[in-house]
Amino acid sequence: MLEGKKDLRSFSLEELTEEFLALGEKKFRATQVFDWLHKRGATEFSQMTNLSAGLREKLADVYRIVSLREVTRLASSQDETVKFLFALPDDKVIESVFMKYKHGNSVCISSQAGCRMGCRFCASTLGGLERNLLPSEMLEQIYRIQELTGERVSNVVVMGTGEPMDNYDNLVKFLRLISAPEGQNMSIRNITVSTCGIVENMRRFAEEGLPVTLALSLHAPNDEARRRLMPVANKYALKDVLAACDYYFEKTGRRISYEYSLVAGENDTETEADALGRLLKGKNCHVNLIPVNPIKEREYRQSSFKNVLNFRKRLEKYNINVTIRRELGADIGAACGQLRKSHLDSMAAQGDAV
Ligand code: SAH
Repeated sequence: MLEGKKDLRSFSLEELTEEFLALGEKKFRATQVFDWLHKRGATEFSQMTNLSAGLREKLADVYRIVSLREVTRLASSQDETVKFLFALPDDKVIESVFMKYKHGNSVCISSQAGCRMGCRFCASTLGGLERNLLPSEMLEQIYRIQELTGERVSNVVVMGTGEPMDNYDNLVKFLRLISAPEGQNMSIRNITVSTCGIVENMRRFAEEGLPVTLALSLHAPNDEARRRLMPVANKYALKDVLAACDYYFEKTGRRISYEYSLVAGENDTETEADALGRLLKGKNCHVNLIPVNPIKEREYRQSSFKNVLNFRKRLEKYNINVTIRRELGADIGAACGQLRKSHLDSMAAQGDAV
């Protein structure tokens, strides 16, 4: 019986200490348990060998340890990218990607099971939102990957399935936990959070004292084109989204990374490159061009490589810092949500309840 039990891995050390004091336990027990959960990635109370059997039983009556189960793993043959499909405790599935870079190992995590934002080119949103992930479920993607690969993860990008600003409180808790000195102690500066542009929460996020890199999914230089690709643009005008980005930079000193997925014939012409250049000119920012990863449910095509290079050249004329995202793990369908989607499709085809 797991329902009703409290999620131990989502408590901060302060909260855990309060819980333990209320149970009549000593304060240092909370530190020991926090260490098991966040440094050693424990998945069972039985692993906590420095606690008495009695205390372990007492804890197991009140708390549960949320952990993820590996369902599938796809390793790229072109690079060292590995994509994991994990099952949550309620058997919903999410995906996470492990990537190796010169500067360290990075994991791309999901923030929700499914997504309700509806971006037209994205596979993660096709089945809608199932539910928000708990802080423990975001952490576990990193802990499990460290355990399964035997590698240390130094960077995290919250760019997998889901809209992090649509799961705000859990996102912020996750960020505080992953950077807790008594846990993984990850540098907040090594974390990137990507949003489709939920203005109120971006502004709130600027006030949290968490200087993560904010990536804004821009994808078009004007409201009209943006609305064609991203339904969320009907709710928030581009000028308000950009003002929220400026505010974030002002408050945190972190330059914004603008994501621009290039879709053939939709947003990749020279006129659009110039409009984007004018829009971002003079801002301390960075533009990441992503040749769109076509998904079978939509007719969108990737811009030609020549167009991508040309788009970059035009932007650079406005003194904008531009990179083209290196396609890691292209052979394993590393685009957002594709592994999860194909898993759900095959489960449905087998007639399983999903
Ligand atoms: N919800 C967040 C994070 C998830 S997706 C957001 O919207 O930013 C991370 C990035 O990948 C976003 O910029 C998203 O628009 C982009 N993306 C999603 N599907 C894609 C695809 N098929 N090809 C290229 N980029 C894609």
